[in-house]
Amino acid sequence: MVKGLFIEGMEVTPTNTYAVIQPHTEEVVAQVADATESEMQQAVDSAYKAFGEMKALSSADRAGILNRVADLLEEVKEDFARTIALEACKPITAARGEVDRSVQTLRFSADEAKHIGGEYIPLDAAKGGEGRDAYTIHEPIGIVGAITPFNFPLNLVVHKVGPALAAGNTIIVKPAEQTPLSSLKLAELFIKAGLPDGAFNVIPGDGPKLGRVLLDDSRVQKISFTGSPQVGKLIKSQAGLKRVTLELGSNSALYVDESSKDSLEDIASKAVTGAFVYNGQVCISTQRIYVHESVFEDFKQSLVSKTKKVPFGDPLDDDTMVTSLINKKSQQRILKWINEAVESGATLLTGGEAKANGILLTVLTDIRSTDKVSCQEVFGPVVILQPVKDDEEALNLMNDSDFGLNAGVFTNNLQQALAMAHGLDVGQVLVNDIPTTRFDHMPYGGVKSSGYGHEGVKYAIREMTRLKMISLNYRF
Ligand code: NAD
Repeated sequence: MVKGLFIEGMEVTPTNTYAVIQPHTEEVVAQVADATESEMQQAVDSAYKAFGEMKALSSADRAGILNRVADLLEEVKEDFARTIALEACKPITAARGEVDRSVQTLRFSADEAKHIGGEYIPLDAAKGGEGRDAYTIHEPIGIVGAITPFNFPLNLVVHKVGPALAAGNTIIVKPAEQTPLSSLKLAELFIKAGLPDGAFNVIPGDGPKLGRVLLDDSRVQKISFTGSPQVGKLIKSQAGLKRVTLELGSNSALYVDESSKDSLEDIASKAVTGAFVYNGQVCISTQRIYVHESVFEDFKQSLVSKTKKVPFGDPLDDDTMVTSLINKKSQQRILKWINEAVESGATLLTGGEAKANGILLTVLTDIRSTDKVSCQEVFGPVVILQPVKDDEEALNLMNDSDFGLNAGVFTNNLQQALAMAHGLDVGQVLVNDIPTTRFDHMPYGGVKSSGYGHEGVKYAIREMTRLKMISLNYRF
């Protein structure tokens, strides 16, 4: 199968192609367009041309298109799930979950399209402002350049496309090299649903080369990036006056307090999911767990025994919970970080070895905060477990990080929950949930090296519109 680019409402035959590989079996899934700079330029031309038509659509029309895409996606859910499973090496049950979430994100976008309201400003509060009615509107900004990562090749694309189109913008998606197929298929659904040609373009290929075209073209008003902190920082330094949203990585932490001692089994089950769902290749993967010393041993035993039971297999098999990593480079880097930690005194409780193109699920303790498995983003199936004497020590360790995306706290002590919620230096605090928790309409954004700006449909729309004030002088 050869998949081309998606420009001006249709698939375009590409100049060059590259092979998309299934990481577990190493089979070629498809040959996909490896776009040139001039093809990206054509996409910008097409998005620029389509903006007038998009802007002229009513909010009901935009909502209608988004809802129709949600309906179409539901109809072909299994096909999309299989595509995600193959290109991203995501276990099929998790891939189905991603399609369900994408349907929901589209429906949230449709709802929000109808509620992009402004406010009334009483200008007569200022001296000389009498006799005027004033209000604000949120106008679309124009072309949004979206650059997306491999780990949620559908839902994280929808998180940019849904809000951009809901607001009346046009968009160009540069998907991750490993996972371009889901976004190309999604673009076809939008055309079926009646989106104007050119309003949604997909240009697969090399990140630095194609990203540069989006960054250099003044018609592209905003870059919405989800990916690694290294690339995010580079994009911000190159973006000039363009708007930028950066959704980056993290080494998310969880605290388990002694007041939750009656729920340790349940919390350990949730923590296993948080640490190992999709092999830990999730920006809010539970990477660091701090447990009150009085319940540490019980929690440790429960976590390790549950971890050993998680089935490893082929991503297309319904029973598989974990499988190979996205590539061998990741596998080798993570094994190196585990070995470095063990050499400097960490205890390996389980895992730590290669399996197929992945790694056996790994739990480590006796970690130093300078070990890479603690202070950097592992983005793999590794979790560290440390005892703490109280919540204050937990708070200090959780905040001792360059990142700040999600944090979780299990406690039955209200005062402690509130103190942690206010003290944690992160974008989102989840009390009595693991940090690996995201609902698609909640505000979602990082602090420190985890990002800049917000997603979560309504909040993404705010960053994809510009505020205009209109004043009516009725005494003139
Ligand atoms: P990545 O940074 O390697 O790539 C992301 C995208 O950036 C790809 O499309 C890539 O082609 C492009 N790119 C690479 N270099 C570029 C450049 N110089 N200019 C412009 N674009 C460039 O990330 P990845 O490996 O695909 O994804 C994993 C990372 O994404 C992790 O750090 C993870 O935490 C993060 N992530 C964050 C969130 C979030 O919402 N905060 C969600 C998912 C993933």
